[in-house]
Amino acid sequence: MLHPQELIDGFGRHIEDMRVSVIDKCNFRCTYCMPAEGLRWLKNDEVLSFDEIERIVRIAVQRGIRQIRLTGGEPTVRAGLPELIERLVHLPGLQAVSLTTNGFLLRRLAKDLADAGLTRINVSLDTLVQQKFEHITRRNHLSEVLAGLEELEKYPTISPIKVNAVAIRGFTDEEVLEFARFARRKPYVVRFIEFMPLDADESWTPEMILTGKELHDMIHAVYPLLPRDAAPASTSRVYQFADGKGEIGFINPVSEPFCSTCNRIRITADGQLRTCLFSRWETDLRGPLRENHSDDEIGALMLRAVQQKEMKHRINDPGFVRANRSMSQIGG
Ligand code: SF4
Repeated sequence: MLHPQELIDGFGRHIEDMRVSVIDKCNFRCTYCMPAEGLRWLKNDEVLSFDEIERIVRIAVQRGIRQIRLTGGEPTVRAGLPELIERLVHLPGLQAVSLTTNGFLLRRLAKDLADAGLTRINVSLDTLVQQKFEHITRRNHLSEVLAGLEELEKYPTISPIKVNAVAIRGFTDEEVLEFARFARRKPYVVRFIEFMPLDADESWTPEMILTGKELHDMIHAVYPLLPRDAAPASTSRVYQFADGKGEIGFINPVSEPFCSTCNRIRITADGQLRTCLFSRWETDLRGPLRENHSDDEIGALMLRAVQQKEMKHRINDPGFVRANRSMSQIGG
């Protein structure tokens, strides 16, 4: 039964999607995300326990959340992840549990994730070229990620399989058509994501953005594309290849912001509620959880935060100020 205090923000947006970071650590060191030496990791007792995550999700679902996306750092490095998924998928009112992963551990985990009830997955893969993969992730694991994707194909309950590529000018351009061919020959929906200013070393500049329109036009010129209808709060523009061989998508948060229909909030691995990827403030939920506040008190904290949710990001505005955390500390 929906709680009377549904999560609706000050602009009338119904918040139905919650991203939950289950860990800040990662087994990759992507150059646009974190330094080679990593970051100061949270201590184990600073990270939310499974009981705490389940409680936050249950309270949020009672207030209108319908989708949960598990993120990190890299969520698959959190021990017992399938067990957490199994606990969440059984929460009444929750419609879907999905996962964003770098795919490195998928060959080992795919069956357990499917058995646990995972239904959707996004695998981050920014290049199909070995040397470039090593350059951007500082790891030699391309073949393992591709093998993990193939392993996923054995579990049709996890569908669609989305492959997300961060598009960076001067890095992605030469591979755009190769990714299109990858989407045409494999049962994956490849989506390009415009590069956003969430990198830990703050080297992002607007010139580094390869826009969704540019990418679309590069592909359409060779493999004609037909637009597909998208759900109102969808972040991606999805196209079908005109000859019917697969789909490809573009997530354009910078050149075509989708904040007006944003229905998302985030929980960081250390239990902070963020109402926008680019928030500069957070609401602590871990403290109240550990001080045995009631569900209603924690729900009220969620609602108060949502009522102050930012209208939009201000990347394109003069004087844009970066978020107070980098991507790996937010979870995407
Ligand atoms: S930038 Fe913030 S408001 Fe805009 S879509 Fe992302 S989370 Fe929502």
